[in-house]
Amino acid sequence: MQEVYKDYMVRATAMDGEIRAFAVTSKDTVETARQIHDTYPTATAALGRLLSAGLMMGADMKDDDDLITVKIDCQGPIKGLLATADRNGHVKGYVSNPAVDLPPNDKGKLDVGGALDLGVLSVIKDIGLKEPYIGQTILITGEIAEDITYYYATSEQIPSSVALGVLMNKDNTVRQAGGFMIQLMPGAGDETAEALEKKIGEIDGITSMLDKGMSPEDILTYILGDFGLRINERTDCSYRCDCSRERVLRALLSIGKKDLEEMIEENKDVEMECHFCGRKYIFTPEELKELVKEAEI
Ligand SMILES: [Zn+2]
Repeated sequence: MQEVYKDYMVRATAMDGEIRAFAVTSKDTVETARQIHDTYPTATAALGRLLSAGLMMGADMKDDDDLITVKIDCQGPIKGLLATADRNGHVKGYVSNPAVDLPPNDKGKLDVGGALDLGVLSVIKDIGLKEPYIGQTILITGEIAEDITYYYATSEQIPSSVALGVLMNKDNTVRQAGGFMIQLMPGAGDETAEALEKKIGEIDGITSMLDKGMSPEDILTYILGDFGLRINERTDCSYRCDCSRERVLRALLSIGKKDLEEMIEENKDVEMECHFCGRKYIFTPEELKELVKEAEI
């Protein structure tokens, strides 16, 4: 069977490298997340925007084993959400409270800012060093795209324009999802910056571009066509969880030896559910005993 729709992102440069750009279409990825987590529309939009951002941010990592996690802790009803991506188009994520469905905001859009409210955005880059790199900024609007723009400006000194969008069907399945990220590289001229800002001020919203059937290439051509756009790379994207029995068992160690021993004493099977994909793993008291023993060596 041939797949009619497939998520992917493109990486591009413009103005001989003064500008770099990413664009992604992520409908299937976000719909997969919606089904796994059973999210209500506002939560679907929030998670979908973060997953789309994660894919583009992940594309900038250097090695195949590198991981980037974008985490939001917030005071709004969604409480928190997280996305983890690699550089090869794989992303996974979750929201703390999937049952968030707010009335539309004053622009008639899904009220992601209301779902998040005040909070902190953390970007955690695990690049194989002992300690991961962590950058943190406060949420500016809670709409996620602006918050990531602010993160890049303050934490990485990279002027960026980020757009993220999720559009729902009437039955609350995902109709469109995607985004773009356009960044000025060090050494970019003021003229480039001004021309780009003017252009970005004139363009349509990301969801209406996607809903017109525009591909990631079309979107970047529309924005950067006059800037000497060069599409450099295309990467397939999907929602992927790489959890395993072994890894989930190891994660059990983090609850502490005392709690583990209590669980062993109860002499009952322990069920653990993966946050990212919902897969359930059952461990016997014998397995837990083995784990505690190994951890002590
Ligand atoms: Zn999993």
